[in-house]
Amino acid sequence: MKNILLPSAIALSLALAFPIHSAHAASATKARAVASHVAKVEEAPLRAHLALLSSDSFEGRGTGQRGGDLTVQYLESQSMALGLKPANGNSYRQLVKIAGVKALPEQSSVQLVAGDKALAIEFGKDWVWAPGDAKPEHQFDTELVFVGYGISAPEEKWDDYKGQDVKGKILVMMVNDPQPTAEDSKRFGGKALTYYGRWTYKYEEAVRRGAAGVLLIHTDASASYGWSVVQNGGTAEKFQLQGAALGSSIQGWISNQTAQQLFSSAGQDLEKMRAAAERSDFKPVTLAAKLKGTAKANIRTVDQYNVAAVVPGTDPKLKDEVVIYSAHWDHLGKQGTSGDTIYNGAVDNASGTAGLLAMAKAAMQSPAKRSQMFLWVAAEEQGLLGSALYAAQPLWPLDKTAANLNLDSLNFIGETRDISTRGSERTELGAIAEKVAKSMQLSISPSEPDLAGGYFRSDHFSFAKAGVPAFSIGGGKDYIKDPEGAKEKAKAYSKRYHQAADEYDPSWDLSGMVQQTQFTLNLGRAVGDAAKMPAWKAGDPLGKARAK
Ligand SMILES: [Zn+2]
Repeated sequence: MKNILLPSAIALSLALAFPIHSAHAASATKARAVASHVAKVEEAPLRAHLALLSSDSFEGRGTGQRGGDLTVQYLESQSMALGLKPANGNSYRQLVKIAGVKALPEQSSVQLVAGDKALAIEFGKDWVWAPGDAKPEHQFDTELVFVGYGISAPEEKWDDYKGQDVKGKILVMMVNDPQPTAEDSKRFGGKALTYYGRWTYKYEEAVRRGAAGVLLIHTDASASYGWSVVQNGGTAEKFQLQGAALGSSIQGWISNQTAQQLFSSAGQDLEKMRAAAERSDFKPVTLAAKLKGTAKANIRTVDQYNVAAVVPGTDPKLKDEVVIYSAHWDHLGKQGTSGDTIYNGAVDNASGTAGLLAMAKAAMQSPAKRSQMFLWVAAEEQGLLGSALYAAQPLWPLDKTAANLNLDSLNFIGETRDISTRGSERTELGAIAEKVAKSMQLSISPSEPDLAGGYFRSDHFSFAKAGVPAFSIGGGKDYIKDPEGAKEKAKAYSKRYHQAADEYDPSWDLSGMVQQTQFTLNLGRAVGDAAKMPAWKAGDPLGKARAK
C-alpha cells in the first residue's frame, strides 16, 4: 500500500509546490515594499491548545479551583516556551485578590413573606441570592419596594426613585431598561441595551442609595438568556474583587413565576406594575411583603492570576506603547454532584485562550513597531474581575496603551465572508478594522442593535471604561460552506452556552477560528505600526477618561 501511494503523493506535492512558491516569492517582494509581513496564525497549535484547555483534565478552568490554577500554569509555561517576555517584572502573573461567596440555602431560613404567608419557593428553581458584601450572615425582617427598572439617568430625564428614601429596603426591580415607545423611539438607546439595563448597574445604584438588597425579576426576553443561566450562576460560588466597592446585604434573582406569586400575594398585579414602570412618571411602590429570616453564606479568600506576556516592539520610540490582546481564561469550573459536573467552556472561552496562544506564536515571528501584550484575564464569568483589576492596576501605562482587542467565544463552525467589529465604531479602530477586513476580502457584518448589551459584558469594557479604545472581535455569520447547516449549529450552541455541554468536538472546522484570530492579529498589527494611537470619536462618554 505504502509503496503504491508514495510516488503519487510526491508527484502531487511537487505539482502544488511550484506555483505556490513562485507566487509567494513575487508577493513577498511586493509585501516588503508596502509593509512588513504579518505571520500566519496556524490551525495546529490553535486546535491543540483548544482541545487540551477544554478537556476534563482542566476541570472547566473554575475560579478558585484546581483547573483554574492548572490553566494559569499552562499559559505561563507556554508563554515561556514561545519566548514571550513577562509583563510584570520577571513574572507573567498579576495577582487578582478576590472573595469567594457561596450561599448556604440549606442552613438559611430566609423567605419571602406576603399576606402573613411564606411563598413556597425553592432556592435554585425559583430564586437565587447571595450576600453582595462578602459577610457570612445577615438577618432580615425587611420591607420590599418595587422600583421599576431601578434606574436614575439624568441625561434621559428618568428617575425611578423620585427622591423616595429606600435606605434599608429590599428593592425588587426589572431587568433591562425602558423600552422605546411610538413617541420616544430613541430613549435608552432604542432597542439596544444601555449600561443602565445591566444588573451590575442596578446593584451599584442600590448600594449608592443604601438599600439592604436587590431582587431582580427574571424574564428570558429582558435578560436575553434563560433561567437556567441564572440558576447555574446563582447556585455556584460567586466572586468579587477584594477591597473594591461592595454590594448590598443580599443580591439575587427571582423567576417570573415567583414574581407573579409574590405580587399577587401582596395584592398587586405584576403586569400593571410593569406597564407603569415603562412610564417616566412611575413612582416606587411599597409591597405588602417582606424578606424575613437569616441568610447564611460561606466566605473565603481566593488568589487568582491574570497572565500577561509581551512581544516587544521593533521601533525605538513606538515600542514604549502597546497593543493589548485579551481573552478570559476562566469558565464555570466544576459544579454540582451528579451528572456531568464539568463545565468545559470549550467555546467560552478555551477558544479565545487558545487563539491568543496561536496569535502570540505568529507575533513572535514578525513583531510590530509597537509592543504587543497577550493578556489572559481571570474571573470574567464572575463579573469581569480580572480585567477590572488590570484596568485599576495596569502593567503598562493606560495612556500608552493604543488599543485593547478582546476575544471571547470564537467561531467554531467555519469560514465566513464577514467579521463582526461591533463597538469599534466608537473609536478610530472602526476605520482601521474596515481596511484590514478589506485586505482579507472580508466584509464587516451588518450592524444590529445591541439588544443584550454585549458591549458591556466582555472584558474589553474594563479597558473602555478606563479610556482605552477597545472592542471584542466577533465571528461572522455569513458562512461560506453549508450556510443552513452552519446556522443550525450556531443556534444549537445557544442551548449549550454556560452549560456542561459546551464541549470540544474534534470534528469542528476551525477555519473560521483561524480567520477570526488572523483578523485580530492583522488589526493589532495595523494599530501597532500606525503613526498615531487611535482616538475616541468626539462625544463618546467613554472617551472622557482618555482626554484627562
Ligand atoms: Zn466568555
